[in-house]
Amino acid sequence: VKALRTVALLAALVAVPVAAAGCGSDASSDDAPVHAVATTTQVGDMVRQVGGDRVAVDQILQPNSDPHGYEPRPSDAAAIAEADVVIESGGDVDAWLGDLVDAAGGDAARVDLLESVEQRAGEAHGDEDHDHGGEDPHWWQDPHNTLRAVAAIETALSAADPAGAPRYRANARSYTAALRRLDRDVAACIDRIPPARRRLVTTHDALGYYADRYGLTVVGALIPSLSSAAQPSAGEIEQLVDQIETQGVEAIFPESSLDPKLEQAVARETGATVGRALWADALGPEGSSGATYVGSIRANTEAIVDGLTGGTERCRPWS
Ligand SMILES: [Zn+2]
Repeated sequence: VKALRTVALLAALVAVPVAAAGCGSDASSDDAPVHAVATTTQVGDMVRQVGGDRVAVDQILQPNSDPHGYEPRPSDAAAIAEADVVIESGGDVDAWLGDLVDAAGGDAARVDLLESVEQRAGEAHGDEDHDHGGEDPHWWQDPHNTLRAVAAIETALSAADPAGAPRYRANARSYTAALRRLDRDVAACIDRIPPARRRLVTTHDALGYYADRYGLTVVGALIPSLSSAAQPSAGEIEQLVDQIETQGVEAIFPESSLDPKLEQAVARETGATVGRALWADALGPEGSSGATYVGSIRANTEAIVDGLTGGTERCRPWS
């Protein structure tokens, strides 16, 4: 019986993106003093916040598209060739950039934000196939790291456009104030979850920074890897099912950019509920709760408080 249920769970685990990536890039104004390429949706938002109307941002990844395993297109190389600065998230989420910057030519400065933040080491669960060197690239899930990234973006834009430096400084200062407020509000929300229930199960291992910052425990992930491109084994799923049952995990959370079938199967198996989808590795389209970085962290926090308290607590300090 156990083997059969494992087969049923594995059948559900083909993680396909919910939405295919769009192929348009952001309209960039030719008169902007700076042309910047940003790799991920989160980094794109941060660069727009700091750059304001002086920076035309070409964002390579589109909303709701999974950054792990993206394959660059010729138009990406063209954007890089024209750019003054290329701002990378760093690590496995944009390792596909590889030699593209050199190959594209041009003379863009390169900034790797992972080098500006405080890194956590990823925990190695699972077998070697799933271990990506232990470097956890999901730094933006801790708003304190986003403060560091914003400072690095301000420095890079000011170097590319010294005349704009006062503007970048002012933009970074007001965005920083918003990030500090966000951080305080999230901490206050998580405080409302009884400590024994602060246990997270997510699709892949993307929320370690968030958990570290706000005092949650990551029990496990359906794809026990720092990359969403990995596949869990039957044994790994069995182990997670056992952990969810023994630790009394209240809810498990899918990701907006991935199919939730496996979460639903594991929830049926364990009696946990399926929480609302989290904005893990990609922001959402305009009009969604994850359209901006700040919005995505708020929406995730609301989903986590609702899910882990079985809906008895609601936390919306920002609304
Ligand atoms: Zn990821």
